[in-house]
Amino acid sequence: MTQRVGVVGYPVEHSISPPIQQAALDALGVDARYERWAVAPADLVAWVAGLRAADVLGANVTVPHKEAVLPLLDELTDTARAIGAVNTIVNDGGRLRGDNTDAAGFLRALDDVGGPPPGGEAVLLGAGGAARAVGHALVGVDIGALIVANRDAARAERLVASLRAAAPAFERLTAVGLDDPALDGALASCALLVNATTVGLQPGQRLLDVAHLPESALVIDLIYNPPVTALLADAEQRGARVLNGLPMLVYQAALAFERWTGRQPPLETMFAAARAALA
Ligand code: NDP
Repeated sequence: MTQRVGVVGYPVEHSISPPIQQAALDALGVDARYERWAVAPADLVAWVAGLRAADVLGANVTVPHKEAVLPLLDELTDTARAIGAVNTIVNDGGRLRGDNTDAAGFLRALDDVGGPPPGGEAVLLGAGGAARAVGHALVGVDIGALIVANRDAARAERLVASLRAAAPAFERLTAVGLDDPALDGALASCALLVNATTVGLQPGQRLLDVAHLPESALVIDLIYNPPVTALLADAEQRGARVLNGLPMLVYQAALAFERWTGRQPPLETMFAAARAALA
């Protein structure tokens, strides 16, 4: 029986998960089809029920369902519960388990470029779903401090509160608005800057000035299309090391693949498929 797996979102046409995952399934000879499932919020409950079918391996979940799907599942991993968002559902014999592979995907991408600067300070821009995953990843590694900066400062405060609850031993956590002067100081001394906002999706779009960023900083933009955002171009000009969101995208996909199939994901195939889809 050909099995099914797919990405659910609304809209979902933009997702490049289908070519990445289908390439991996085909490379390992798994008899499964990866589909796009456009499901309106009003239809989510009925759609989740259908996921329990015997021919469904599971799903990836994208905007706007990452949070709404939580109460509809049978169990959640600790990571998904802490982050408060699910990006991967596994159908385990009719029981649906919600997981989040964004945090681990981010850490694997960070490892590829040498890991977090030990003891250094990190600035995280954004407080939406992706920022929550990155924030939870960062409070678990060896960084000295984390400043979460968001346009809506109250949302940054809420993220910091959830990070404090998840990692009580990580003490140096601060939330600021984008117009807070403390952000300038943090940028001037940070070892790691991560953009987890949508600013930069449009070519030339900038959230802030990185003229005072240390040359030793590592700058990661979660955006992968365009491959070089204005932030990354500015940071590179400063001499900083830069990384776009493609490795995180592929690693979170690979971890989901592993959950569904129990097989080692063919990473090179997945990277090649991602690059081809974006070319
Ligand atoms: P959300 O909609 O949940 O969050 C959007 C964030 O962007 C919020 O912090 C929001 O601030 C901020 N923002 C939006 N517009 C502006 C603006 N004009 N000025 C300042 N801040 C703004 O999105 P996600 O968290 O799901 O995604 C964020 C980015 O991360 C996207 O570009 C997405 O493509 C990327 N991503 C990459 C992944 C990867 O694997 N590489 C995985 C997941 C996401 P506010 O709270 O004030 O509205």
